[in-house]
Amino acid sequence: MSAELRSNFLRTQIQSDLDAGRTREVVTRFPPEPNGFLHIGHAKSITVNFGLAEQFGGRCHLRFDDTNPEKESQEFIDSIQEDVRWLGYEWSGEVRFASSYFEQFYEWALHLIDSGLAYVCDLSAEEARRYRGSLVEPGQNSPFRDRSASESRALFEQMRAGAFAEGEKVLRAKIDMAAPNMNLRDPILYRIRDVAHHQTGTAWTIYPTYDFAHGQEDAIEGITHSICTLEFEDHRPLYEWFIEHLPVPHTPRQIEFARLNTSYTITSKRQLKQLVDAAVVTGWDDPRMPTIAGLRRRGYPAAAIRHFCEEVGTSRSDSMVDVAMLESAVRDHLNKTAPRAMCVLRPLRLTLTNLPNESVLSLPNHPADEAFGQREVTLSQVLFIDRQDFRESANKQFKRLVLGKRVRLRGALVIEAERCETDAEGNVTHVFARCITLAPGTDPEDGVKPKGVIHWVSADHCVPAVVRCYDRLFSQEAPGRCDDVLEAINPESLVVVENAVVEPMLATLVPEEVYQFEREGYFVADRYEYHSETPVFNMTIGLRDNWSSPND
Ligand code: ATP
Ligand code: MG
Repeated sequence: MSAELRSNFLRTQIQSDLDAGRTREVVTRFPPEPNGFLHIGHAKSITVNFGLAEQFGGRCHLRFDDTNPEKESQEFIDSIQEDVRWLGYEWSGEVRFASSYFEQFYEWALHLIDSGLAYVCDLSAEEARRYRGSLVEPGQNSPFRDRSASESRALFEQMRAGAFAEGEKVLRAKIDMAAPNMNLRDPILYRIRDVAHHQTGTAWTIYPTYDFAHGQEDAIEGITHSICTLEFEDHRPLYEWFIEHLPVPHTPRQIEFARLNTSYTITSKRQLKQLVDAAVVTGWDDPRMPTIAGLRRRGYPAAAIRHFCEEVGTSRSDSMVDVAMLESAVRDHLNKTAPRAMCVLRPLRLTLTNLPNESVLSLPNHPADEAFGQREVTLSQVLFIDRQDFRESANKQFKRLVLGKRVRLRGALVIEAERCETDAEGNVTHVFARCITLAPGTDPEDGVKPKGVIHWVSADHCVPAVVRCYDRLFSQEAPGRCDDVLEAINPESLVVVENAVVEPMLATLVPEEVYQFEREGYFVADRYEYHSETPVFNMTIGLRDNWSSPND
């Protein structure tokens, strides 16, 4: 059983609603506001909402909570749908929009006015703040609170007709200005906003608040369990107040759970937008971004993200999950699913002085799974090895190539370094080595074992590649808490390697294929910039966690 099934208090509550007959079919929704790209926190909400519907044989809606037109756009509507599908979920029915219920919300606002439960208020924002009181002081009634229902109705109709300027009037619920829960102190239901909406155009100049819209959206759609994050807990009495006082067709139930926060990450669309606007990243889908589109472009598999969301479980108390858990879910998944190949990131020429002729080797694509098959790699006299895999002299800890010492070339021969050439600055430019064995996979006859294994690429049969090596975007554990998120940026989060070389097969991939580059890590063929002439790869993740064990 997955962790999600084991430890999900939401599941227990839904089960008890089913057992008690309060719910027949489970209907949930994922309700993003289209004001940014989805991030890893949203992935959690998606797996919770779609996951619960799936587990109970119910339905999950995708609904855009689009009541705030200034910050919303079609670009975000499109990206959100793409991300939900990429994560592996399909919503029930058409995509829904809160804005398609605007007329109904307006009718219900009139209903509250007519019932003496809402009034048009003329206080300025500043005055309203003063009247509201504080956590320790009750508020005061607005002087407009006792306006007759018919006067409020007429004014509200005029608000809709565009008779007033922004901020001149609002519609408020008439609840209790002394309520200990500030959300019940005559909350605002409608504001005047003279802006066009991406769905409704210029049809409206008044827009409902989140509080007045959300529960009613749920009720219209027959949502049984409206699952949201803990910051809405104090809004629940208001959510229930609207449902109780309006002639809604269904009674949804709001249940809160703790947001997912991961370390070294920001999960706030506002702060992510700051990074995009400041051009610290190339866009919302930069491979370093914790957005779903960014993780995708980085090569994180959807299944690994889903698995991580299940593993962290759901709880009622806020906490911070180590981002290493997500990275490790990605590593575990790719270890099983990614074929292996060789890429040399820092090429150093190596000549095999006694190799009689070129030969084509057949190497396994996966060390543990034969189903991945084999590929052909040419072993020729001149190869490239990684600059970091050779030293003129070194101590015993260095398990790579050293003058006079032996290593095995991955999948091929054992060699011994004889001499090297250097440039004017003393940098090694060319290594010469002798093959100790001539048949791949065999051991030296003199019994002197190689120190280690290094990877290589044939200089005559290779393709130049661009490899973008990524690291965590932030060097601080809780960047969201910094006064300025830009100050928490890791200056080494991107190193572009322009002159890597890869074996020819790596130039024949489909964008988004992920490979393990032996001894380096996992790399994905960039979704947009990978072409066979110049393959461009993004580093998904290294083979090990360099953050928790730097001396490893
Ligand atoms: P942000 O602060 O990034 O703008 P939001 O909550 O305002 O996030 P919405 O578009 O309103 O973004 O979110 C859609 C749904 O995703 C909501 O139900 C919200 O509770 C949920 N959600 C957002 N962030 C997280 C998170 N970090 N963990 C779990 N659920 C989240
Ligand atoms: Mg929101």
